[in-house]
Amino acid sequence: QAGQALLAIENLVVDYGSARALAGVSLSVCKGEFVAVIGPNGAGKSTLLATITGLVKPKSGTIQYEGRRLGAEPPARRVRDGIALVPEGRRILSNLTVEENLRVGETVRRGDPEAARRFEHVLATFPVLRSRLKGYAGRLSGGEQQQLAIARALLSGPKLLLLDEPSLGLAPLMIEQVYETLVKLNEDGLTILLMEQNANRALLAGDRAYVLRHGVVELEGPTATLRTDPAFDQAYFGFD
Ligand code: ATP
Repeated sequence: QAGQALLAIENLVVDYGSARALAGVSLSVCKGEFVAVIGPNGAGKSTLLATITGLVKPKSGTIQYEGRRLGAEPPARRVRDGIALVPEGRRILSNLTVEENLRVGETVRRGDPEAARRFEHVLATFPVLRSRLKGYAGRLSGGEQQQLAIARALLSGPKLLLLDEPSLGLAPLMIEQVYETLVKLNEDGLTILLMEQNANRALLAGDRAYVLRHGVVELEGPTATLRTDPAFDQAYFGFD
């Protein structure tokens, strides 16, 4: 790839006990890129994110971020270094207000003089959240909750935004909204690495994609190529 790798993963192996979840995964994300990892249930997508964010320790392999090898840095440290995760299922705190949920995203940068400006910018990006700031987050629609989860992640000031299945459980119109937001954030310079089962939607949005199945990268390439690649179904579904 042209450009500088923001994230470079080599031969990552992750085991849960005797079960191998990632069996030597290599992938890279350049600065400014929008990359999708597409794969069915159990492919290892969440495990990949958990390893990048420091929640799971790999058995072997390396993760480089901004040219430095990540080692034992705990998750909070990685967030401060600019790696933010929008988790699967959004993990909104329903009994807190929208504003309180957003403040959770800010805590990693408490005292940061940029915080107020960043908060304003995020509300400008998600006007629906501004109008609901004092309302309970649990009252938001699924699509609005996904926007809140993304907004919360943005408040940590990330350089790399990781998302785990942002379209899961959303109505088609909401999925469109979420993806339009992601494309806009990427156009504004944010680097994005997204996990999806929704192959069709992810292949429309990203620059490049990897197909992950049973912990192995089966196929990779520009999304424009993969969209019409006859090998795609074989890689994703594993017909054999
Ligand atoms: P999903 O879309 O269902 O979240 P995924 O692609 O994110 O799937 P992972 O959740 O990373 O996949 O799971 C990869 C493999 O590791 C699966 O076979 C899963 O059963 C297994 N696995 C995941 N977490 C654990 C765990 N804590 N202990 C044991 N096995 C696990």
